[in-house]
Amino acid sequence: NILVVGSINMDLITVLDRFPKVGETLLGQTFTTALGGKGANQAVAAARLGADVAMIGAVGDDANGTSALNILKQEGIDISGIGVKQSMSSGIASITVAESDNHIIVVPGANFALSIEDIDAHTALFEQADVVLCQLEIPMDCVLHAAKLAKKHQATFVLNPAPAQKLSAELLSLVDVMTPNHTELKLAFALDDTASDEEIAQILPVHMQLVMTEGANGASHYGIDGKRHWNAFKVEAVDTTGAGDTFNAGLAVYWSQGLDVAVERAQAAAALAVQQLGAQTAMPTAEAVSVFIQA
Ligand code: ADP
Repeated sequence: NILVVGSINMDLITVLDRFPKVGETLLGQTFTTALGGKGANQAVAAARLGADVAMIGAVGDDANGTSALNILKQEGIDISGIGVKQSMSSGIASITVAESDNHIIVVPGANFALSIEDIDAHTALFEQADVVLCQLEIPMDCVLHAAKLAKKHQATFVLNPAPAQKLSAELLSLVDVMTPNHTELKLAFALDDTASDEEIAQILPVHMQLVMTEGANGASHYGIDGKRHWNAFKVEAVDTTGAGDTFNAGLAVYWSQGLDVAVERAQAAAALAVQQLGAQTAMPTAEAVSVFIQA
């Protein structure tokens, strides 16, 4: 069982020919909505891979919140831990796509209103969890509290430290598995650009396993025995949105099968995800991952 404690957004996506100038009104081509937020993305990716997934988080009392809850439920996710914050907006990302580029505005809304009390109201979900998976799109005190409850209930605490920021020594001491990209790794440990692999391995708390994702280059594991690297699967990438979220879900779902299996399956799931447009639409099933690996 996987418990995701994290963010829930609706992505509001407008496609148009060019970006408007300040004060200008333009007609767009298309408008679509999709469930997003790193927490919801990772929960959906884990559920597609066949895991029993529950989520703790918050939406607002608006139509976007209702849509988000419906989609999560349709994916088979236990939404009993998701609260509705009165008189607040749900988290949204307003995404404008034009000129082969994008502009994005994120309003965290209810995600930033999640509290330690909200999490404490669902300790039963921690009792059931083998893995607790968090990102950094909810208040830091909630992430820290989830880490403490994971430890208390002997669940593996996996932290995807995104968006990038410096982490406290207390939080680092509670992380079992960390999954940064290079930027997130440097910020999390306040490393400078010149830090070597040996230096990175040395500063890791001894109990921590660190798996750094490197986009099309693959992933590397840092531990007390140094660095190991796996190449990514060679595929034609169409849209890498959601690659990191799919990788994190895969690592969490397959973690109990050992590092090699977990990284291989997480990379296979992510490689399948980058071959289709969109984040959640592209997330594969466990069966698709098995077929891909055997091919
Ligand atoms: P993030 O978006 O969080 O920085 P990455 O870009 O590092 O995440 O991607 C996460 C994982 O997704 C990589 O470790 C790799 O396995 C897979 N991946 C990403 N881009 C590609 C690609 N172009 N081809 C194959 N696999 C990819």
